[in-house]
Amino acid sequence: MGGGESLDFEIRPNTAPASAAERAALMTDPGFGRIFTDHMVTIKFAAGKGWYDARVEARGPIPLDPATAVLHYAQEIFEGLKAYRAADGGVTMFRPEANAHRFAASAARMAMAPLPHEVFLASLHELITIDRAWVPDGDDGSLYLRPFMYASEAFLGVRPSTEYLYVLIASPVGSYFAGGLQPVTVWVSADYTRAAPGGTGAAKCGGNYGASLAAQAEAIEHGCDQVVFLDAVERRYVDELGGMNIFFVYDDGSLATPPLGTILPGVTRDSILTLAAEQGRDVAERPISFDEWRTDAQSGRLREVFACGTAAVLTPIGAVRWPDGEFGVADGDTGPVTNHLRQSLVDIQRDRVPDHHGWVHRVL
Ligand SMILES: *Cc1c(COP(=O)(O)O)cnc(C)c1O
Repeated sequence: MGGGESLDFEIRPNTAPASAAERAALMTDPGFGRIFTDHMVTIKFAAGKGWYDARVEARGPIPLDPATAVLHYAQEIFEGLKAYRAADGGVTMFRPEANAHRFAASAARMAMAPLPHEVFLASLHELITIDRAWVPDGDDGSLYLRPFMYASEAFLGVRPSTEYLYVLIASPVGSYFAGGLQPVTVWVSADYTRAAPGGTGAAKCGGNYGASLAAQAEAIEHGCDQVVFLDAVERRYVDELGGMNIFFVYDDGSLATPPLGTILPGVTRDSILTLAAEQGRDVAERPISFDEWRTDAQSGRLREVFACGTAAVLTPIGAVRWPDGEFGVADGDTGPVTNHLRQSLVDIQRDRVPDHHGWVHRVL
């Protein structure tokens, strides 16, 4: 499986796609991850054979033998990125090469077969091309792309699977949080951690999410929108949210975000670090303790906190709750730096300003 590998996709168009009227009705208020396009991509892998049977076909259920390894040992990874409608009616993606690299890194951590980057990118092109009518127009909408791969061998022994299935599905989406760019309240979990050193925190694997759900449920029970995890060793330093990275903005205009290691290396996080530095801000990747967060919020040195990720882009964090108390960040509103960085990023993603970074990838 070296680089440079390419595969031909067999295209079997859906014989009963949604009509234009049905599609328009579904896309009026798509929400997040609720409605799906007409097609999917599947590619198989078997040890000794490599990747084969690349297909674009009608989206539908995938039969699973009850002994399929993923159902038992959770050998599964995924990605998430978006396609946008360009001003001229074409379609772009944002930094898909970064997702291809991360998908390969996640596969390596989970002892899975690496999918060549070109095949990953080609699958995105194929699906967007056949389902292009599902890319929303307008300022908020996009087509969320969900590549994933799982251990498909039917075998109960504990070892890396010898077979994998790669699948790509797509979902037209509006804004991630109902209510748009409203500040959220976060819950700092005292009982649960997300990822330990040496664990799978930096891999985008379903297991991390499975393990985060009890903490997220605890957040909801306490009237919060999202959970924030502290480091698993000292239980002092901020790691990230269940599915988003976190940034702190100070009164001198500087930014800080936790360093890579146990957190997921977000493409949005990386893009914000670049944009903020270009805008003349000091940016630091450094450990930030929960005590520091609270002290700086109370002294007023901390002006803004936001979470970031592909799905919700930048989301302001207005208040923080934990088992012993609660505090607000500044006046609890969306701050100017959060707004400005969000706008800078969205303007590039939506092709409204020149892209000096080579981040925008033209598909159609
Ligand atoms: C996907 C993900 C993020 C955000 O990554 P982006 O590439 O910016 O979408 C952050 N944290 C976790 C745990 C994630 O799974």
